[in-house]
Amino acid sequence: MREVRRRITAAAVRVGRDPASVRLVAVGKGWPAGDVALAAAAGISDCGENRVQEALPKIAALAGIRWHMIGQLQRNKARAVAGRFVLVHSVDRRDLADALQRAAERTGAAQDVLIQVSLTGRSSQGGVPPAGAAQLLGHVQRLDALRPLGLMVIAPATADPEAARPAFATLRLLRERLRASSGLALPELSMGMSGDFEVAVEEGATIVRVGSAIFGNRPPADRPAAASAHG
Ligand SMILES: *Cc1c(COP(=O)(O)O)cnc(C)c1O
Repeated sequence: MREVRRRITAAAVRVGRDPASVRLVAVGKGWPAGDVALAAAAGISDCGENRVQEALPKIAALAGIRWHMIGQLQRNKARAVAGRFVLVHSVDRRDLADALQRAAERTGAAQDVLIQVSLTGRSSQGGVPPAGAAQLLGHVQRLDALRPLGLMVIAPATADPEAARPAFATLRLLRERLRASSGLALPELSMGMSGDFEVAVEEGATIVRVGSAIFGNRPPADRPAAASAHG
């Protein structure tokens, strides 16, 4: 974690950004609550999970952590998510936004969300195509229990971090366009993972989602480790 923070700071300084403007979200998916507790004890305040079923027992077991939902979300999970996560990074369609709106209304508190954008054309990881982002944002803007704070992207996985730079730059430009069209501040850009978070910081990330660089390589297929010897 110290090394990841050092690299975030160096990347921010390289482009004249305040390192404090970048939030590190530690992605403990696939690892048991005890490992996430170790990260928290070492100073992590924000943790990310991509599956609701895996996240709920960790949230119940660990106090004082700001949880981020970073994975694709089904509508029927909205009630489990609203109010438990400080930020839902993966709003990519109207029906999900509507379900989160209803769930947030029940909790009586506004839910902060990001619009997840897909720049690859592949739908497996979710995300709205850039051409549909303004319309989706406009819809979310009309839902009074949701607060759209910015955009999220998952860059194509490559061995070369530089290969992710165009995606990050594109997301930043899209944010500028959406700011102008919506009048919203959209302060957050959630982009950058273990393989490319420094490039993301150089391109303006305010949130980086880092898993394996902190916790180590996950078991194959991202399987939750609950049933493993870690338990
Ligand atoms: C797993 C995951 C991450 C973290 O991935 P690493 O490569 O382990 O850092 C970040 N964002 C999302 C959406 C993820 O699912």
